[in-house]
Amino acid sequence: MIQEMIRQPEWRTIGRCRVTSELFLDAVFTSACDCACPFCISRTGEYAAEDREAWAQAVRDAFRLFDIRTVILLGGEAALDPGFWEKTEMLTRAMENARTEHMILTTNGMGFLDPEFTERLLASRIDAVNLSRMHYSQAVNDGIFGRNTLTREEISRLYAQLRSAGKTLRLNVNVWRGNLDSPEEMDVFAETFAGCCDAVKFTPLMRTDMFGTVEEVTRYTREKAIPEPEIAGLWERFTARHTLVRKASRVLGFVDYAEVEAFGGTVILKYAQVEDKYDRETEIPTLKLYPNGCLSNEWSFTRDIRDRLI
Ligand code: SF4
Repeated sequence: MIQEMIRQPEWRTIGRCRVTSELFLDAVFTSACDCACPFCISRTGEYAAEDREAWAQAVRDAFRLFDIRTVILLGGEAALDPGFWEKTEMLTRAMENARTEHMILTTNGMGFLDPEFTERLLASRIDAVNLSRMHYSQAVNDGIFGRNTLTREEISRLYAQLRSAGKTLRLNVNVWRGNLDSPEEMDVFAETFAGCCDAVKFTPLMRTDMFGTVEEVTRYTREKAIPEPEIAGLWERFTARHTLVRKASRVLGFVDYAEVEAFGGTVILKYAQVEDKYDRETEIPTLKLYPNGCLSNEWSFTRDIRDRLI
């Protein structure tokens, strides 16, 4: 479920930059979302204005310049973008002549309430769905998202549909002060959704928002985000209750992971984000594509990486 944990990346040089062989392209479709999570990193005052022509050119450039291993469709909520399928098909065509292996949709799941969307996704090149789910209790989860979210039964049905189409489902969970911040609580989550998905991934809540701006949403994260050493301790205590399958350090140069077997399923633990520990001027461990056509190696829709490849 985390390919980079298994494969050692090789690095090659393009112009002034070092590029990983395990490059993933985060295609940020839109900052819009129909949920209202208090920690949302895309709810910022800054937005990348849509420019479809520049976006299409950036897709062509991304696949011409780089070997992209994985494409991730992101938001906000990507499925809310009116151009969702058009963009997805454009990316699918670009992948045809590339060695790209996966196309992953990261979503809040609301799109699956529409059977037509589900049918189209099942027939599409998207081979993995990462569904955001923050709590095992339906009432608490709905409270966090600010609306009725998919129930465990709906998630279970979705999983069966995805599986029969050869696709995978992962639940993406954030941990913060007051939300699944003990091994016991993490256990309840993992056990509740055992058999409903291929993996559960726990990630600590990050304190910064997507574009590095200081906004009201970051006050929530400032109060609730658990410091890096404490997260490491929590992950160690959870791991000690189960079976550690593997650990991987500095995956792509900046993230640590552990894979644990718990309740017959796979649990991925992502250590605190240390994205600022790579040199953004010269290293490309990740690529981000914004609605305005900016292609960047950081959370910025103004600093285009193509300017630094010469
Ligand atoms: S579902 Fe994701 S994008 Fe939407 S409000 Fe919550 S965190 Fe933000």
